[in-house]
Amino acid sequence: MRIDLHTHSSVSDGTETPAQLVRTAAAAGLDVVALTDHDTTGGWAAAAEARPAGLTVVPGMELSCRWFGPDQPPTSVHLLAYLFDPDAPALSAERARLRDERLGRGERIVEALAADGHPVVWAEIVEASAGGVVGRPHIARALVRAGVVESVDAAFASLLSHRSPYYVSKADTDVLQGIALVRAAGGVPVFAHGLATKRGRVVGDDAIAAMAAAGLLGLEVDHPDHSEEERRHLRGLAAELGLLVTGSSDYHGTNKTTPIAACTTDPEQFEALLAAGTGSAPFRD
Ligand code: AMP
Ligand code: FE
Ligand code: FE
Ligand code: ZN
Repeated sequence: MRIDLHTHSSVSDGTETPAQLVRTAAAAGLDVVALTDHDTTGGWAAAAEARPAGLTVVPGMELSCRWFGPDQPPTSVHLLAYLFDPDAPALSAERARLRDERLGRGERIVEALAADGHPVVWAEIVEASAGGVVGRPHIARALVRAGVVESVDAAFASLLSHRSPYYVSKADTDVLQGIALVRAAGGVPVFAHGLATKRGRVVGDDAIAAMAAAGLLGLEVDHPDHSEEERRHLRGLAAELGLLVTGSSDYHGTNKTTPIAACTTDPEQFEALLAAGTGSAPFRD
């Protein structure tokens, strides 16, 4: 069994449609793939519809969150959520708020870039997103199209970095509230790439313990952005706190260089995750 529990389609900031993504998953030899677009369930139906025989598709999402620690600005964290009820009102309303927040924030970044002479136009970026949830990768692609940078990676390393003067943060969900919303919707919350220091500031063990106390059920341990040492540390924490351990690629199509199935989840951990999710069912034969 090969299981990849974290992928993005063009419904958020990946480059393949949900239908293409499930075909890519099957072609890569996966038995299970989770679709975890940012702040939306908009790709679930299309992924289910296009699902090749033999492939299990797990409905999921990656919720944009923040950890509020003492004596420091909030830390950006991502919360994977699986098998929740897509119609649960409170979680649904929070997703809608986050998508709205993304639009306002994206526009501010683009306006600031344009004011300094970078030829990017917000309306064109929204149009190119084709109804998908807009993120910095969409702005990065516009910068590539305009010839300002050579690649999406180069855009993230410079103009769109969290250290760039053009960076604008978003009012993401308090992660403890996010965990509660996912649990109330029958879902399984898993802390995504929790120690990926290359992405920016990360939280301490105290924060992860607080998340576990709030109902977190798993840690994404094997992730392309985690070093061996970071994985070892998270695996130890998961054992200590009684949390599930997942491994995933965080595939984004050609927006990132990581291939699908670059990291995978142990079948026993996956079975436990399935048993814990009660808000929706996987799409399978
Ligand atoms: P945002 O959610 O708008 O703040 O943008 C962050 C998103 O950009 C995350 O989903 C990341 O997966 C993605 N991202 C981060 N770094 C890179 C990179 N170097 N190349 C492509 N995508 C990236
Ligand atoms: Fe992304
Ligand atoms: Fe993420
Ligand atoms: Zn992701």
